[in-house]
Amino acid sequence: MRARWVIAATAHLQDRASRLIAILGVSVTAGLCALGLYLICDLRDGAWHQAEQNAQNLLSLIEQSVARNVEMYDLSLRAVAEGVRNPRIAALDPEMRRLVLFDRAATAPGLGKMFVTDETGRILIGSDPSASTEANLSANPDFQALRNDPDLGLAVSGPRVSRVSGTQIMALSRRITKPDGSFGGVVSGAIHLPYFRALFERLHIGQGSAINLFQADGTLIVRHPHLAHMVGRNIAQGATFQRFRQARRGVIVERSAVDRAQRLYAFAHLADLPLLVDVAVSAESIRATWWPRAQMVIALTLGLSAATLSLTLLLQRENVRRAAAEASSRAATAELATLALTDSLTGLPNRRRYDEFLAKEMRRSLRTRTPISLLLIDADRFKLYNDQFGHQHGDAVLRAVAACLTQLVDPLDALACRIGGEEFAVVLPGAGTAEARSVAERIRREMVLRQIPHADEVGGAVTLSVGGATRVPDADDSPERLFREADAALYEAKRSGRNRVRFAEPDALPETRQRSA
Ligand code: GH3
Ligand code: MG
Ligand code: MG
Repeated sequence: MRARWVIAATAHLQDRASRLIAILGVSVTAGLCALGLYLICDLRDGAWHQAEQNAQNLLSLIEQSVARNVEMYDLSLRAVAEGVRNPRIAALDPEMRRLVLFDRAATAPGLGKMFVTDETGRILIGSDPSASTEANLSANPDFQALRNDPDLGLAVSGPRVSRVSGTQIMALSRRITKPDGSFGGVVSGAIHLPYFRALFERLHIGQGSAINLFQADGTLIVRHPHLAHMVGRNIAQGATFQRFRQARRGVIVERSAVDRAQRLYAFAHLADLPLLVDVAVSAESIRATWWPRAQMVIALTLGLSAATLSLTLLLQRENVRRAAAEASSRAATAELATLALTDSLTGLPNRRRYDEFLAKEMRRSLRTRTPISLLLIDADRFKLYNDQFGHQHGDAVLRAVAACLTQLVDPLDALACRIGGEEFAVVLPGAGTAEARSVAERIRREMVLRQIPHADEVGGAVTLSVGGATRVPDADDSPERLFREADAALYEAKRSGRNRVRFAEPDALPETRQRSA
């Protein structure tokens, strides 16, 4: 049922209105989908752009804060490194020397104590008189690095537990150079890593996001949120850190070496310091800001598209129905028109059709100067037949006459019709007398051959009388005149014994006969 409707609709697409509806429906749906797609892309791009900006703002803040802390501390280290070389300070008693060498920086929260060592790593003096000076720092990698490289500047260690205080620290050290240029020990201090963690914790980052502080060699110093097993690990070989190395600062999207989650990284190398900081925002948290709204857009787009398509199909169906109704009404009208021109008993064209046809063909003959013939055919003694065999049998005879005419008259060349009770006519456009006579004779003979029984006193078989007339019409001729001539010939056929053909004499205009039984 549905398939038939689809076939009808497809066939109907050839209709202009249907095509227009289909094109409009599909265009509006495509437009809606394109608009939905554009909105979704816009939401996603906007969310990523926003996340990138937030990450960069956060990065600037952290960068400044870390750099400032380290640089302030470094200033104190430089002051101590220079002070210990001053012979006048060296001459002071230990308490005075401590007061002169160390400012208050080392006592600020989050900052570790400072120590001065000799070239063997032994602690000579510390900023805190109560702190133990037993430890030897010569085993620290930064001590060794400063001893080996006079131009190292500030040495920053990876995260380690302080030998002095026992807390996790990042050690900062500077070389002390003797007046002769040789290594004279180090001044070493520390920043407590919990201090940085507390600093980072005050910044609000989303779920799955992170802040990292690295040594320039890729060792993770601080991570927020804190991951104890990751701190101290070197990720220099990871794809992310490789890309950090390619620029001083930037924004990249990479999979994390730690949890394989995709993240947006805003990173920066701290100026003049061997440190790198990054803000990592999880792609998942960015998605969470745009995806719910995108889902609404998708639902809305799908809903509107479905509504448009349904409306299109509905209109299409209405259009199909309308076309079908029009077609059936056209068929009905055509059928009515045919019925109006058809005789119901015999199925032959009726009198009205005869009038139309004869008038039209007469005009054509007048124009083309060609002949036209008319045969009038009348069943002989038909009243008697009805009386003897009954009206129903009479009807059957009339149908038999019609069958003879259908058999012998080509509808492409001529028109055979029933024009009254037991009277028939054949109009033969283009036929001269000889041809018309031959047709008439064949009709008469065919009826005889059929041998339909009739009363014995009229010969025992149904016969036909035929009157014919042929004219090449001129301006004075009319269908009525041709009819009158043929009718007169028919009268003549009856009069001279029936079951015969008579033709009107050319140009003899006979009087209309008065036929009688
Ligand atoms: P003729 O040989 O001179 O033509 O004699 P006829 O009896 O055929 O002529 P008439 O005109 O007197 O009679 C015609 C008869 O045709 C009268 C009528 O009963 C009959 N008739 C007319 N129409 C029909 C019809 O539709 N069915 C039947 N069965 N008979 C019809
Ligand atoms: Mg008659
Ligand atoms: Mg008759």
